[in-house]
Order: sequence, then structure tokens, then C-alpha cells
Amino acid sequence: MICEMCGKEVPVTKPMLVEGTKLSLCQNCARFGDEYKGANTTPGAPVPKTVIEERLQRRERRMQTKDVYSATTWELVEDYGTVVREAREAKGMDIDEFAKSILERRGIIARVEANDLVPDDKMIHKLEKALNITLKEEVQSGSQVGGSGKKSESMTLSNFIRKE
Ligand SMILES: [Zn+2]
Repeated sequence: MICEMCGKEVPVTKPMLVEGTKLSLCQNCARFGDEYKGANTTPGAPVPKTVIEERLQRRERRMQTKDVYSATTWELVEDYGTVVREAREAKGMDIDEFAKSILERRGIIARVEANDLVPDDKMIHKLEKALNITLKEEVQSGSQVGGSGKKSESMTLSNFIRKE
């Protein structure tokens, strides 16, 4: 049960009158209200939800939805090296120029482009920003991404880069 005054989750609430409005309050907040006589509720009829309670429940649902989203992870695309190389070439830069422009060592960039070095998050962010690309794809946890699905994803990515 949720206390309609402080919003705290409590095992039991007490119906109380606060400034003429019936609220379900926790032990702590009950002292702020007057005892509720229950005069205008028909016995057995469902107690109408107050606006506050609905709002609290909506907030709870929103928080649960957020949890579902956080089960989604972002993974580095399989052919990140190709994506980086193609985007760099599209900008007309050689590895030296590009490495200098993002303050990285040439060898690091070359290894990333060869799919030989997995860039860390900081590097990924740097590359994405510098080349205007996306190196991560959304992966729903629990759902397996098939090989063909992944291929079409990287195709779309390459096409997108070529168009630029
Ligand atoms: Zn309370």
C-alpha cells in the first residue's frame, strides 16, 4: 500500500480525512488527519482511486518500463574496423591525418581498422564523434540476433556512410 501523503510504501494504510479529503495514510502521516468515518462509501463498493494514488502507480509503472530498457545492451558492431576505415576514407583522410586529428597513435587506429584491437568506450565515443558513425548496436538481452540480421545491419551502416 502507498501512503497518499508521503508516497511511502507501507504494509498498511489508514483511511484519514485531511482537509475534507479521504486519504490512505501511513502510521506516520495519520496523525495529520482526522479519523475517517466512511459515511459516503457504500460497503462492498470498490474504493475510488484518488488522483494521487493513480499518479504514484503511473510513476511505478514508468520505473518498471525503465528496467526493461536497461536490459537492453549496446554492443560493438562486428565489423567496426570496416566502419571506421570506410568513414575515414569518405572524409578523405589517411590514417596518419585521422590519428592526429583525434590525438591517437597511428598504430592504434590501424589496428582498430584491421579489427585487431577492440576500442574501449572512450575510443568508441571518440571515433563515433569524429567520423559521425555508430559503432554500437542495440542488443535486446534474451533475444538472439541471427547472423543474417546482423549482416543487414552493417550493410545499412556502410550504405549510410557512403551516402555522406
Ligand atoms: Zn506517510
